[in-house]
Amino acid sequence: MIEMVLCDLCKKRKAVIKIRYAGLNLCKECLSKFVEQKVMLSLKRTGVLGKLSGKYLIIALSGGKDSINATYIMHKLSQEYDFKMKAVFVDEGIGEYSKQRRAIVMDLCKKLGIEYRIVSMKEEMGISTPEAVSILVKSRSSIKPCSVCGVFRRYLLNKVALDENADYVVTGHNLDDEVQTFIMSLIRGDIRSIAREACSLGYENDVPKLVSRIKPLYLVYERESLVYFITHGFKRISLSCPYARFSMRYVIREMINDLEYRRPGMKYRILALKERLGKSIRETVLSSVEMRHCKICGMPSSRDICRACELKELLVKLSQNYKGIYTK
Ligand code: SF4
Ligand code: ZN
Repeated sequence: MIEMVLCDLCKKRKAVIKIRYAGLNLCKECLSKFVEQKVMLSLKRTGVLGKLSGKYLIIALSGGKDSINATYIMHKLSQEYDFKMKAVFVDEGIGEYSKQRRAIVMDLCKKLGIEYRIVSMKEEMGISTPEAVSILVKSRSSIKPCSVCGVFRRYLLNKVALDENADYVVTGHNLDDEVQTFIMSLIRGDIRSIAREACSLGYENDVPKLVSRIKPLYLVYERESLVYFITHGFKRISLSCPYARFSMRYVIREMINDLEYRRPGMKYRILALKERLGKSIRETVLSSVEMRHCKICGMPSSRDICRACELKELLVKLSQNYKGIYTK
């Protein structure tokens, strides 16, 4: 017979998760509080919580578990802390995968009574993710699908936030995402990203036209976010992105999960290192980077042409060999 494990906090209810780094078994209710306390801690630590009153937040709602959790928790806080929010879904045009997530986003927003806006990558950037991938594959480019799709998504979120006159963009990045990004920057030797991401826990930038970001799940492990999502009964899609496996992130993810399994709390330690290292190099590295505005679209960029416009130009050039699939 399988023995029922009780929650270590309330000592009453059945545990639904074992949090190894804290040595805690938690029930649904106590996990909920645990995750929401971490969100409050992230928002307080950066001083964002005290500034939310009267603000307008754009929330990047992709229909995945993390962005749904972030939307749900921020929506709960919006009354108490008196801020407004609107969800934005960037439709990458990845067939059923995008369609099903869009339906989930619309359904959630209706249920919670949150306004939403759907932004089509095809309409805004002139190309969908599958079209971009097709050009990259045909031209044997080493650029990975997520490198284009991710840049376009971030670009569109900032553009929409500017258009909406929003004060912050909220994203669902969890602790695992942050650790993976840090390791990827280390591998690429990308010191600028490490410096830029140093205070990604609510860093307020002073770059004109770059809307500051908030990451409420910054201290939440992916596994905690998943169990929070499941126990809250949110709808999930059965499909995963067909291009995800080509990304380096997924190799790093496996590697870090293995490390965490062998040494519980490893992810926390890497996150702490990321913050410390980033903060200590931030001024030196970023003071040498002059923020300008893209000569093509006017968006903030450290170079003459921003990465999104650079990728658009590259795709146009490559597509000219394929009957001008992409001519914008
Ligand atoms: Fe885009 Fe990559 Fe995310 Fe798929 S996994 S939606 S290609 S960023
Ligand atoms: Zn540009």
